[in-house]
Amino acid sequence: MFVDKVNIFIKAGNGGDGAISFHREKYVAAGGPDGGDGGNGGSVIFEVADNLTTLIDFRFNKHFRAQNGERGGAKRCTGRSGEDLIVKVPRGTVVKDKHSGAVFADLVDAGARVVVLKGGTGGKGNARFATARRKAPGFSQKGEITEEHEIVLELKTIADVGLVGFPNVGKSTLLSRITAAKPKIANYHFTTLSPNLGVLTRYDDVAVVADIPGLIEGASQGVGLGHDFLRHIERVRLIVHIVDVSGSEGRDCVDDYNSINAELAGYSELLAHLPQIVVANKCDLLNDDNRIRQLSAAIGTQVTAISAADGRGLDDLVDRIFDELSKLSPPKPIEFEPFSFEKSKNDRFEIYRDEDGAFVVIGGLIDKLIRNVVLTDTDSFAYFQKTLKDNGVFTALRREGVKEGDTVCVGDVEFEFVE
Ligand code: GDP
Ligand code: MG
Repeated sequence: MFVDKVNIFIKAGNGGDGAISFHREKYVAAGGPDGGDGGNGGSVIFEVADNLTTLIDFRFNKHFRAQNGERGGAKRCTGRSGEDLIVKVPRGTVVKDKHSGAVFADLVDAGARVVVLKGGTGGKGNARFATARRKAPGFSQKGEITEEHEIVLELKTIADVGLVGFPNVGKSTLLSRITAAKPKIANYHFTTLSPNLGVLTRYDDVAVVADIPGLIEGASQGVGLGHDFLRHIERVRLIVHIVDVSGSEGRDCVDDYNSINAELAGYSELLAHLPQIVVANKCDLLNDDNRIRQLSAAIGTQVTAISAADGRGLDDLVDRIFDELSKLSPPKPIEFEPFSFEKSKNDRFEIYRDEDGAFVVIGGLIDKLIRNVVLTDTDSFAYFQKTLKDNGVFTALRREGVKEGDTVCVGDVEFEFVE
């Protein structure tokens, strides 16, 4: 089965917790706080690997987690950062958020690399919280806990060249002759169910060729193998249109040529207007060149005569393909709205009133704050209040109509509002 769309789960590493520690040394009376910061978590990075052509590896392996940052140490030692996780994908992979459908990245270029999830920030050690008035903070900040996200990988094969033609004209055979691909070759009318890809090379030139099956009459109306496959040639820049010039299947190659072009036009204007190289295959079965000349005259264009079976004409064809490609502009990535999972939601909060009339404050800011403070510790509690104030929670409470003596709930903490 050709896998061209998979869902996977990714998670960046958590940040390491900041340390709580105090400097201890003989003969030094009161050592200061020296708890180091936690290390940052590893990021999740997607990278194109040129040797991959499918998403098959993601069928069973679905969870990808970068390493967590380590906790800080004494003597202001910063914890070790978590290692980044590099996920290798084939060229042409589009990375989308499962829930919003937003596109993170379209990995078109060879070697392209995108940071999809940034690692959690390490927490600050208690050394960082020392001030003139607060000489010995007995608390530190916890590392940022990252969320797991479900994402969709969609492979939009980046084939530069699409092979089109009726079944049995020799598309698979040709692909197997000019590239290292090993497509199924069969003389029945229902061969490949997925695009076979091959990498064509000539000196330093490289092009990806896709054998596109299923382009049979009616495909553009959703009959037959249809649209799923045609989707893979959206980015093709050049079409190699193969006909069986031998008539070995009792078909007329001029009719075939016209039907396939009508199919292309029915599917997309874009495809219909791509440059084409017309290839007459199975020349080994001909006694003379008459049919080739007739075909060329009937369709009014030059025809490249080959035999995928005995190899004649193949070198010329490869040269023609690269010559044509060199005249065309490189493929463009799809257009998308830049998107990233908002880290800033850690600063958000909301206020609502519960059935007893208490003001309840919830949100990412609160979750994070509650993790970071030890409310029984006066210093820590002061920090808690200051953070609420700095982030506008008190202002927002007043706007909501809070008055002296009203109950306010922040996380598990319940207190009376005092102006
Ligand atoms: P596809 O359906 O277009 O992929 O066609 P295949 O590559 O599977 O080929 C269909 C049949 O035609 C197979 O039996 C091939 O061996 C045969 N064939 C392909 N190319 C040639 C050729 O150049 N000459 C001859 N005589 N047979 C060929
Ligand atoms: Mg085939």
